[in-house]
Formats: sequence, C-alpha cells, structure tokens
Amino acid sequence: MDDIDVPESHPRYQSLLTRHRIEDGVEKGITSQQGLIAQGRGETFDYLLGEETIPSADDAARAAAAHLLLADHPVLSVNGNVAALVPGETVDLADATGADIEVNLFNRTEERMQAIADHLRAHGAETVKGLTADGRIPGLDHERAKVDADGIGAADVVVVPLEDGDRAAALAEMGKTEIVVDLNPLSRSAESATVPIIDNIIRALPTVTAHARDLADADESQLRAIVDEFDPEETRAAAEDAIRSGELA
Ligand code: ATP
Repeated sequence: MDDIDVPESHPRYQSLLTRHRIEDGVEKGITSQQGLIAQGRGETFDYLLGEETIPSADDAARAAAAHLLLADHPVLSVNGNVAALVPGETVDLADATGADIEVNLFNRTEERMQAIADHLRAHGAETVKGLTADGRIPGLDHERAKVDADGIGAADVVVVPLEDGDRAAALAEMGKTEIVVDLNPLSRSAESATVPIIDNIIRALPTVTAHARDLADADESQLRAIVDEFDPEETRAAAEDAIRSGELA
C-alpha cells in the first residue's frame, strides 16, 4: 500500500489511503457518487471498532474461508467500492478459493461495468463475469436483478461485500450461502448473511484469503466442523458490543 504520500506510521494512514482509493475510483468512473456516502458510513463504524479486526470478525473470516473451500461454485461479487478499494485482494481470494469474480452493481451502467472489469483485469483477474447479464435475482426490479446465469445465478456460495440490503436479502431468499462483509452489524445485509464479517473490506479480504490458504489441505470434515460451529448471531452481537462499549484510542 504505497499509493499515497503519507508515511505508514501516520495514525490515520489506513483511513487516508482508503479515502484516496475511493476518490480515485470516482475519478476513473469505477465508483459511483453514492459510493462516497457508503464509504462515510463505513468509516464511522470502523472508527468505533478501533479500526482493527476484532476476534469475532477473524472467526467469521475463517468460517467464510471454509464455506468457500467447500463450495461447488463460489462467486465473489464486486461493486464500485470493492473494485476501488481491494482489486488485487479480490483476485488473491479468487485464486485461493477457486471462486469466480462477477461485477454486480446497484447503479448499473455499461460504462461502469466495463471500467470495473478492466480495472480487475489490470490487477490480474483472468475472467470477469457480470457483463452477460442473462440471469435474474427474483424479487428485484429489472436493473437491480441482473446477474450472469452461470455466475451468481448458479453460485452456491456468494461473497457480497458492501451490498445493499434488498439485494443481500433477495440472494439469501434464493437459498445461496451468503458471506457479507459490512462494517455495520445492524445493516440488513449483515442480518441476512450466513456469515457476516463485520470488518473493513481492506482488512477482511486478506484475512479470508489467509485462512483459505491455511485450510487448503484440510479435509471436508474439518471444514464442515468450522462451518457448523459458526454462529452469525454471536458475531453480530460481539461487533455491536465492541462498537457500543469499545474504548476509543
Ligand atoms: P442496508 O440497506 O443493508 O441497511 P445501507 O443502506 O446502509 O445498508 P449503503 O449505504 O449502500 O447501505 O452502505 C453499504 C454498507 O457498507 C454500509 O453498511 C457501510 O457500513 C458498509 N461499508 C462501507 N464501506 C465499507 C468498507 N470499507 N468495509 C466494510 N463495510 C463498508
């Protein structure tokens, strides 16, 4: 992470870097203006969490890795904020788990879809789905429902970071195992997730990748045990407690 002119020792380094990446994303046509607002909401929760991966989020990341390794057809969904913040980290996670990458936008325009796909390819993605849009998520209006039939449409496990609550709920309704990354433990997305990871995406994706690499040789029963032990309610409650009662540095 060296794309800003601020030393890593600066106390607000990560936050400044994140903002810079989002601004850059808007300039490049990757991130929407609404993405700036979503970033602001996220930062507030991150500040209250102490800008660190709390133990319950690390457990959730491990459960997410186990789900991805057990999946027949895992897919990582990428929107404008995710593409701006963690393009290389998304490619790493896809490599570690054999997942497909699909661009999936709340405010879909062909230009933005293309800009994001190009950006991901520039960061090493070989195949980027989402442009065919021949599948639909039931229960959503036309533009918001579009997915690739052989991507998210056919997925059994989907990672949906920073997702809008309606779409997260609609994907869960389709019976998909949903891994959500969201800093707000009370968001509808976090509430509909099989595995809510309450952490900044900048930290969360590398954490899931590290667990996936660590579990690469685990057998199916070990992975199932990790999945079965995980309790989403407990994770959300632990994050809410950390936010409400944590001590600010
Ligand atoms: P919902 O409809 O689920 O209640 P919302 O309307 O608040 O959510 P948005 O404003 O689109 O949804 O924001 C997306 C979510 O992403 C917010 O909950 C925000 O906390 C979260 N978020 C923003 N930036 C990050 C980030 N860098 N890492 C993790 N989560 C983030």
